[in-house]
Amino acid sequence: RAKERGRNNYQLYTTSMNEDAMQKLSLERYLRKALGLDEFVLFYQPQVNVQSGEIFGVEALLRWKHPTLGMVSPASFIPLAEETGLIVPIGEWVLRTACEQIKSWHAAGYGHLTVAVNLSARQFQQEDLVEMVQRVLEETSVEPRFLELEITESVTMHNVERAIVILNELKNLGIRISLDDFGTGYSSLSYLKHFPIHTLKIDQSFVRDITTDADDAAIATSVIALAHSLNLQVVAEGVETEEHLRYLAARGCVEMQGYHFSRPLPAQEIEALFQSGKTFAL
Ligand code: C2E
Ligand code: MG
Ligand code: MG
Ligand code: MG
Repeated sequence: RAKERGRNNYQLYTTSMNEDAMQKLSLERYLRKALGLDEFVLFYQPQVNVQSGEIFGVEALLRWKHPTLGMVSPASFIPLAEETGLIVPIGEWVLRTACEQIKSWHAAGYGHLTVAVNLSARQFQQEDLVEMVQRVLEETSVEPRFLELEITESVTMHNVERAIVILNELKNLGIRISLDDFGTGYSSLSYLKHFPIHTLKIDQSFVRDITTDADDAAIATSVIALAHSLNLQVVAEGVETEEHLRYLAARGCVEMQGYHFSRPLPAQEIEALFQSGKTFAL
């Protein structure tokens, strides 16, 4: 009996392993074709200044609409895109599409808007990253000061020296750099002194329970203070409630992003939001 059970367990185990592998394989096959099939779309999430009430920028967030799988979350396909290297062409598409969009919003009268684009570690390792970014900016006629590239601490971990060189090249183009998910990675605080960073983004995991969890509150408050003393901009992510907003604002954070203001939306809906003239002052 024990043997039988053992065999059954073994079969169960291999079946689910195979299913996982199969799923991953077909997801990978789909992913390889997604760009050519026009299945990607960018959503945009407003970034607001709660002092002026204005939307000062948007973050571009990638969405994959597969005809049978439906909407696939970036959390599930970006790791696979990284692993397979597909993130490189996909990432270039994201940058180009975001730049074209911001150009068109500038032309429509929203000339102050910045656009933030996420860069993956794999993209950061590409030899021609800086040239690619420069080329896309030229081809879309977007002034570099309107582009912010979001990197995470992991991007800089592999090779700190090289990261400093690349970030300086990007900075010298006139692009802004923000450190995304700040506080969740491993980089030493002393790197902040050497990295040409403009913005720290407080990770949403510290914001979620900010009014009830003393540790999260202490961390978020410290990041705001750190940013101020280093003369960096600070943006809080994952602001979902009025309480989050008030708590952060009381500690000197004025730039925020989160469902409280708006979810990430398709370009057309963002444009409708601009046109509505809605403001978000505290
Ligand atoms: P991220 O860059 O930290 O983006 C913020 C994530 O938080 C987004 O998830 C956004 O939809 C979500 N979010 C915004 N406001 C709130 C809120 O108030 N509450 C909560 N719970 N969540 C909120 P999303 O769009 O699913 O993206 C997940 C991650 O996937 C991003 O995290 C980013 O790391 C990655 N990603 C998305 N688009 C791209 C891309 O074009 N390229 C690369 N390399 N990575 C991307
Ligand atoms: Mg981001
Ligand atoms: Mg983040
Ligand atoms: Mg994140």
